[in-house]
Amino acid sequence: MKNIYGFTLPKLENYFLEKGDKKFKATQVFEWLYKHRIHSFEEMRNVSKNTIAELKEDFTLTPLTLLQQQIDTDVCKFLFGLEDGNKIEAVLMKHDYGNSLCVSSQVGCNMGCTFCESGRLKKVRNLEVHEMVEQILLVEQELDLKISHLVLMGIGEPFDNYDNVMEFISILNEPKGIDLGARHITVSTCGIVPKILEFMKSGKQVNLAISLHAPNNEIRNKIMKINQVYKIEDVIEAVKKYFEETNRRVTFEYILLKGINDKKEHAIELANLLKDINCYVNLIPYNETSHIEYKKSSKETIMEFYDTLKKNHTNVTIRKEFGSKVSAACGQLRANYEEG
Ligand code: SAH
Repeated sequence: MKNIYGFTLPKLENYFLEKGDKKFKATQVFEWLYKHRIHSFEEMRNVSKNTIAELKEDFTLTPLTLLQQQIDTDVCKFLFGLEDGNKIEAVLMKHDYGNSLCVSSQVGCNMGCTFCESGRLKKVRNLEVHEMVEQILLVEQELDLKISHLVLMGIGEPFDNYDNVMEFISILNEPKGIDLGARHITVSTCGIVPKILEFMKSGKQVNLAISLHAPNNEIRNKIMKINQVYKIEDVIEAVKKYFEETNRRVTFEYILLKGINDKKEHAIELANLLKDINCYVNLIPYNETSHIEYKKSSKETIMEFYDTLKKNHTNVTIRKEFGSKVSAACGQLRANYEEG
């Protein structure tokens, strides 16, 4: 049996059509699932008994299990259990512009970034579409709020689970369902070049963020294994193409790691690297974790890096720090839960 939250509207329409049934039933079901948020098929009041019986035979509605929840004033962190016993995380951040949810796309991650807690657990499997959708449904239900922005920046590499991630986005976008606009969604990748180009061709208005974290190959090779496959210049070239094709500005994420990539000369090198690209740089204060050696850069270093980029005409912002208290860095909650 398939979980119904994994079905896009066109897929659900096909399901009904293949049964010789009416396509509009898919819209009805979608509205019950996502507008009314029902928990059993019996609650679909305008759907015939027959159809309900068929749906029950073909689909489940099983939700994720909420294992743990850590709540702070502007951030809530969730640990979810999957049906096979694996665990994933989602983090809700309350910004002045709305509620942003950071969801996971895989169990574990194979990208091997040395600073990242998620990658300490190697990839076990991709998340199914419904497991991504259900992260939002559960958080909205638990906190009784509406999510206005979604970022794929939790555990996993979204472009290593490309097809499922794209179907997930299509479910989010569906006006008859969750109806979250593409411009309110951000996909973050460590720089898988062929997928950046495929994403470019998909025509989605979703925002793209690239985890750059270094101004040159020498540093990037040390902290991001993926750079041995797709070098900085390949990533930059792909981003230039992406902009030419879509006219959409990319965000480069740059974690500041003390003594590794946070010197003034690195900022100048970064500004030079990005000088012909219409983009933003988002500086991320590193969230320290007990299992990994790296330290966060001091406030002064972060400000100096920021100023140097500004002086060199780079659009730059510093990410608001969330959740140092609630172990909000990618993968930390799962790691702490497992290791006690
Ligand atoms: N695999 C994707 C998305 C998941 S990581 C990617 O690499 O972009 C989401 C972002 O969080 C990435 O920019 C990642 O480098 C960053 N990140 C990972 N661990 C962090 C930590 N301890 N502190 C701050 N940012 C971290």
